[in-house]
Amino acid sequence: IRSKLVAGNWKMHGGTLQNRDLLNAVLSATADLSGVELAVCVPYPYLPQVQSILQGTNVSWGAQNVSQHEKGAYTGEVSASMLLDFGCRYVIVGHSERRALYGEDSHTVALKFRAAQSVGVIPILCVGETLEQREAGITEQVVAKQLEAVVKSAGINALGTAVLAYEPVWAIGTGKTASPAQAQEVHSFIRGRIAADAAEVAEGLKILYGGSVKAANAAELFAMPDIDGGLIGGASLVAEEFIAIARAA
Ligand code: 13P
Repeated sequence: IRSKLVAGNWKMHGGTLQNRDLLNAVLSATADLSGVELAVCVPYPYLPQVQSILQGTNVSWGAQNVSQHEKGAYTGEVSASMLLDFGCRYVIVGHSERRALYGEDSHTVALKFRAAQSVGVIPILCVGETLEQREAGITEQVVAKQLEAVVKSAGINALGTAVLAYEPVWAIGTGKTASPAQAQEVHSFIRGRIAADAAEVAEGLKILYGGSVKAANAAELFAMPDIDGGLIGGASLVAEEFIAIARAA
C-alpha cells in the first residue's frame, strides 16, 4: 500500500555543472519508472537551478535543513517559506550530522519539523543511534526518544504528513550498511510504537532507511516489509548508482 520513496541527500556536494549532468542523467534513465517517487535534497544555493531542471518531471526536490524560526534577525538561516518559494517538497530535519556537528537537540529538531509543516513542506525526520548506543543495547530507547520529542511537540497526527528516516549513525558514510534484518527490526519497532497511538498514521507512514545504501544492497533492504525506500548520501552523487537504487525500489 505504501509507495516507495528514494531521496538523495547531496550533503555539501555539488556544483552547477555537475548538478546539471547528474540530474539530466537521472531524468532520462527514470522517466519510465512508476510506483517509486524520487527526490533530491540539495544545498540551498542550488535550489533555483534544481527547481528549473526538475519542475514538471517525476523527480521532486528539497533542502537539507531549515530554520525553526519564521523570519527575523537570524543571520545565515533559511526559513521554511523560503524553501516553499523555490518549490521544495521536502526538507531533511534532524540529520545526525546536524545533531552531532551543529548541536541540534531534539527540541530544536521538533521546532524545525513544525516550521516545515506549517508552510506545507514535508519534513524527512531522521533518527538513529550511534555505534556506542547500539553496543550498549539502547538503540530502541534512543530512537524512541528522538521520535517522542517531535510527537510531543507536533502531535502524533503530524506524522501523517511527514516521512521518517532511520539512519544508524555507524552506517552513515562508513560503507557499513545495516543488514536488512537489523534495519527491519528498528523500522518495525518505530512503526509499532506509532501504531500504538495512531494505527492509520503508522500504516501510511513512509520510513526510509539511510546509511551506506548503494546499488549492490538496495534491493534487499527495500524488500523488507517496513522499509519504504531510502535516504541516500554518497551514492546519490553518482548517476548510475542513484538510478540503480531507484530501480531497485
Ligand atoms: P551515506 O549514504 O553516504 O552513508 O549517507 C547516508 C545519509 O546520511 C543520508 O542522509
